[in-house]
Amino acid sequence: MRIGLTGGIATGKSTVSKLLEARGVRIVDADVIAREVMNPGQPLLAAVARRFGSEFLLPDGGLDRRRMAEHIFNRPEERQALNAIVHPAIRAEIRRQVEACEAADPEAVVAADIPLLYESGLEELYEQIVVVYVPREVQLARLMLRDGLSPEQAEGRLNAQLDIEDKKRRADWVIDNSGSPEETERQVDLLLKNLGPR
Ligand code: ADP
Repeated sequence: MRIGLTGGIATGKSTVSKLLEARGVRIVDADVIAREVMNPGQPLLAAVARRFGSEFLLPDGGLDRRRMAEHIFNRPEERQALNAIVHPAIRAEIRRQVEACEAADPEAVVAADIPLLYESGLEELYEQIVVVYVPREVQLARLMLRDGLSPEQAEGRLNAQLDIEDKKRRADWVIDNSGSPEETERQVDLLLKNLGPR
């Protein structure tokens, strides 16, 4: 069983991911993979150097993230060119890890934790998409608190993503994380029960 786990920034996706993991669900983490594909020696970096120039690589061969971030800031075409190189590699690695979990245990529940699942059009790989939801005002408050952001900065982060209400509408299953941690835990248990006998 493949689950796609997503949400908005600070809606509680990491929190739910930990609860799932503690209940034996195997987690494939897209953020970790996104960092790993940029590590020194990864084939992707040769493609980045060909397109952008070797000055975007560090002496150890890894990506100069800061330089790249500055370069693509406010340059949508350059950002798109980078994404066209990076996204397929991330997608392939997520798929590889999900399939490896299934091969190791055909009965396993595997959850791919993908913050921008809908934004990146990655729905088709998953049998059930679970959205971790809180209303926008709760999301803003938790984001400001967690990351020490001003209201304007937090609004900016939220506005860069698909609205959480849209994600909720598209979900196969919603975990509402606006209540207590115990309430969220109960919903996670209910989700796993609902996925049926394994
Ligand atoms: P995400 O991974 O979606 O960005 P996190 O799991 O990091 O979100 O949660 C965002 C913030 O909200 C964290 O500081 C976390 O401790 C807090 N948080 C998560 N769930 C709850 C909850 N049910 N009640 C109160 N605070 C919560």
